[in-house]
Amino acid sequence: METIIEPFRIKSVEPIRMTTRGERARLIREARYNLFGLHSDDVLIDLLTDSGTGAMSAPQWAAIMRGDESYAGSPSYYRFESAVKNLMPFKHVIPTHQGRAAEAILFSIFGGAGTRIPSNTHFDTTRGNIEASGAAGDDLVIAEGHDPANMHPFKGNMDLDRLDAYLTEHGDAVPLVMTTITNNAGGGQPVSLANIRATAEIAHKHGKPFIIDGCRFAENAWFIKSREPGQQDRSITEIVRDCFSVADGMTMSAKKDAFGNIGGWLALNDDDLATEARAHLIRTEGFPTYGGMAGRDLDALAQGLSEIVDEDYLRYRIATNQYIVDRLDAMGIPVVKPAGGHAVFVDARGWLSHIPPLEYPGQALSVALYEIAGVRSVEIGTVMFGRHPDGTETPAAMDLVRLAFPRRTYTQSHADYIVEAFGELADMKDSLRGLRIIEEPRLMRHFTCGFERL
Ligand SMILES: *Cc1c(COP(=O)(O)O)cnc(C)c1O
Repeated sequence: METIIEPFRIKSVEPIRMTTRGERARLIREARYNLFGLHSDDVLIDLLTDSGTGAMSAPQWAAIMRGDESYAGSPSYYRFESAVKNLMPFKHVIPTHQGRAAEAILFSIFGGAGTRIPSNTHFDTTRGNIEASGAAGDDLVIAEGHDPANMHPFKGNMDLDRLDAYLTEHGDAVPLVMTTITNNAGGGQPVSLANIRATAEIAHKHGKPFIIDGCRFAENAWFIKSREPGQQDRSITEIVRDCFSVADGMTMSAKKDAFGNIGGWLALNDDDLATEARAHLIRTEGFPTYGGMAGRDLDALAQGLSEIVDEDYLRYRIATNQYIVDRLDAMGIPVVKPAGGHAVFVDARGWLSHIPPLEYPGQALSVALYEIAGVRSVEIGTVMFGRHPDGTETPAAMDLVRLAFPRRTYTQSHADYIVEAFGELADMKDSLRGLRIIEEPRLMRHFTCGFERL
């Protein structure tokens, strides 16, 4: 059979409250055209993020009941630890409440004024934690990673020559080398196993530990299995183990590829570093056998980690994005290609070329998509990145709109509905107008700023 079906049945549903176009026009105006300001029950299909928004399985909900809330030495922790170690063979697994808490601990040990941390591309919370420690973050993704139309199969790869030269030049200032799989800030693009191995080799040649931000490790392994020569007959679990066996540690948001609504961890091999990390953990998160989580969360994650490596799930997961990207592409809508792991990215600046970047074409498209269809997306462009600490504003590198898919949550008819909405937008796009910011905070303005239509 060629049709890829959702590999699950639905046991419990969350009804969607239907809204009319007129209602939505009022609601988004009242939210001052900022989609973060909407109440989520006024959204029909919520593609704001794939973080913590997925559906847990029946066995995960059963595991929640098994959760043991002992302060120290809970069996839930040991089930969680062994599920992590089954995939990622690190000596120490330190539970945190989210990925960013793991990052905060890591960079409290490694960061600091005058240091520099290279990665393929740092995610925004990673960069935030690096910079908060006084360090600088540098993104060394391959050139193809910056070209939305380039069909390179692993556009998240580290530029190995640049990394080697960077370490030769800045070696003394660099405490560790990172790689993010998949490259979230770079369109959810994967990193090949060969590139992970070569990055580790270069880091180790220069005497630096290699740390993986592993949030979407299973999606990345699926891309390795389906695109990298020689990997087709291997299991996802084997590929995942290979990726992490060359690393010295990892950070993880369990809200991504662990099917959790909350959670994360920091893993390390080095005993002394782990001792230091646990001391920090006790001060900021909790005792080392629960960290920032309840026992029930730990059990839900242990179960989730056994489900995320399922190939039928991963095939369906990646096919969802591919399905939408193929249809938008056929309609002549510029999208980031090839399809990434967790989201579809539309090039709003390219599509709405009559709206200049400083009138926020990405925001204009996001707002219109909500008004027409009740679909919530997020602008990743000049609203998010255009304002600088000195108060000046310049266009971001690209103005994209991201449609991020919660795991196991929406079906093919939802995808068809999204495609239909873009068809309607295509007919009226020339009439869309840009926006002006009427109120903004000093930092991270995209979450709370207000707009008016031009
Ligand atoms: C989500 C994410 C993080 C941060 O994790 P939180 O759980 O949201 O704190 C870090 N890195 C990447 C690549 C992510 O996608």
